[in-house]
Amino acid sequence: MARTWTDLSLIEQPERIARLARDVRGYPIPFVVEFDDQGIPDFRALDMQKWVHAVNTKRCGICGEPLGGRMAFVGGPLSMANRLFTDLPMHRTCAEYALRVCPFIAAPKFAYSPKVEGVRVATSVSDTRPERFGLGISRGFSVAQLPSGDIVLHANPFEEITWWREGRQEGEPEK
Ligand SMILES: [Zn+2]
Repeated sequence: MARTWTDLSLIEQPERIARLARDVRGYPIPFVVEFDDQGIPDFRALDMQKWVHAVNTKRCGICGEPLGGRMAFVGGPLSMANRLFTDLPMHRTCAEYALRVCPFIAAPKFAYSPKVEGVRVATSVSDTRPERFGLGISRGFSVAQLPSGDIVLHANPFEEITWWREGRQEGEPEK
């Protein structure tokens, strides 16, 4: 069994996350994760129907519930700079929980290349696995198409960025 990033029981769970189903390791299963034929969640794979539904209805990639006026994007330094994301925006509380527990829940593409059917989601905006992750707060996003034809989310300018390393926030927010 894979070692968990940190002791899950030590980290307070937001209510929205406490409602999610768990995998065998005890990880909450994010809304957007695809299930295989045996009903096992595959954290590498985005369920594209859920992804498109979440984009169209502005839902959180972790808990699947509607986002408010502000939303959090998580990514490596390159994504924070160009504001292009494959991973869905999240509630801030959901994003911070995921960063404390395991950044690859918030930004699974850094662990694996996404397995995608139908809609092609860009992998070209990914950084290599970063040492630190940014959490950017924006008031929305647009859907953009790269020259390659891949679909990405382009976050609106960030009002605030915090940086995270190994489950901890580093320094003060950048505004
Ligand atoms: Zn959420």
